Amino acid sequence: MHNLLSTGDLEFESRHIWHPYNSTNSKVPVFPVTAANGVKLTLNDGREIIDGMSSWWCMAHGYNHPQMNQAMKAQIDTFSHVMFGGLTHKPAIDLARKLVEMTPEPIQTVFFADSGSVAVEVAIKMAMQYWVVQGNTRKTKMLTFRGGYYGDTTGAMSVCDPVGGMHSMFTGLLPEHHFVPRPACKFDEPFDESHISEFKNALESMHENVAAVIIEPVVQGAGGMYFYSPDFLKRVRELCDEYNVLLIHDEIATGFGRTGKLFACEHANTVPDIMTVGKALTGGYMTLAATLCTEKVSGTISENGAIMHGPTFMANPLACAAACASLDIFATGEWKAQVANIEQKLRDGLMPCAGFDTVAEVRILGAIGVIEMKEPVVMEEIQPMFVDEGIWVRPFGKLVYIMPPYIISDDDLAFLCQQLCKVISRI
Ligand SMILES: *Cc1c(COP(=O)(O)O)cnc(C)c1O
Repeated sequence: MHNLLSTGDLEFESRHIWHPYNSTNSKVPVFPVTAANGVKLTLNDGREIIDGMSSWWCMAHGYNHPQMNQAMKAQIDTFSHVMFGGLTHKPAIDLARKLVEMTPEPIQTVFFADSGSVAVEVAIKMAMQYWVVQGNTRKTKMLTFRGGYYGDTTGAMSVCDPVGGMHSMFTGLLPEHHFVPRPACKFDEPFDESHISEFKNALESMHENVAAVIIEPVVQGAGGMYFYSPDFLKRVRELCDEYNVLLIHDEIATGFGRTGKLFACEHANTVPDIMTVGKALTGGYMTLAATLCTEKVSGTISENGAIMHGPTFMANPLACAAACASLDIFATGEWKAQVANIEQKLRDGLMPCAGFDTVAEVRILGAIGVIEMKEPVVMEEIQPMFVDEGIWVRPFGKLVYIMPPYIISDDDLAFLCQQLCKVISRI
């Protein structure tokens, strides 16, 4: 079924609807989508383009997946929503069971949130409550790394990169936390202790006021598309233990296979105390995220209090049913070969760009390909160029990157890379 838009629709849209990080009189066009199947989006004018973004990391299984659709239809005919305060249901229990099973061992408890940003808010509150219920009211700060991205609500924003997250625009609104430079050791580089010295010094001097360290494991996503050494992450875990500080991993972008491991922390064989997941959790079919924690965290809070969060749409049954279906697809393990294949094909397909004068670096990890330009791209120019070449790519600043759905065929992936390089060669 197609949902064609009229000229009137498009005029209304441009005057009355906000888009992400955009003004209502932006010169960057928006493209109307009328259908989506597999890895392809159909536009209003009938053109089909290949989605290189998985709609911002989440559509791992592709659009209109029969198993996903079927699971959601079945839940709609049962019931779509019921409050979670005082009530429970099978989709939530099934999903929690799957999550506890999939995540590394001491992770045992699940809090369902309605978006990634909210999951991060809950993670931060959880970390603070952990200390407060033990009578420690001094541990109220987060310690984190520059170049991070954790979402757009104020608590989450307050730990995002201070420059990229435009903290100066929101002085007075955002709580102030501690920052150290981004992990200095790149993914393939040999780690040595000097790489972590600033973090270690910060912990040493501030740990009495730090509730938790929050970090995106191995891949900093929307804050810079930067891959760092798993050995660095391993040391972060050790130092958090040494200084009695909790460790939060935000796996919202990296989770569910995107980096080549089911969760990115598995590159380092570390386990956080608190972990957030979202995005591909539902395969992109519904908005849902979760904050998971160890029994140490949930038990400590529960002994002396309660978690102080409870959204209206907590554990929405339809979203939980979508997530159950999505996790069943991940559980087949097919993603492993798909992601490994995508990684190989991205290396072949994007490395030619590394030779262009305009390109600073090309880097690839799992099903993520990044072309870092020397100068920021001009969105209103480059966005229509991608669409004209039959692909959907949404750069920001100097970063042109793709993370296609895992189900992409070799031909479509080769086309995506080839057209991407073609556009890059022309700017
Ligand atoms: C996208 C993202 C978030 C925020 O998730 P939303 O669902 O957009 O609120 C948080 N952390 C990371 C690492 C993300 O990539």
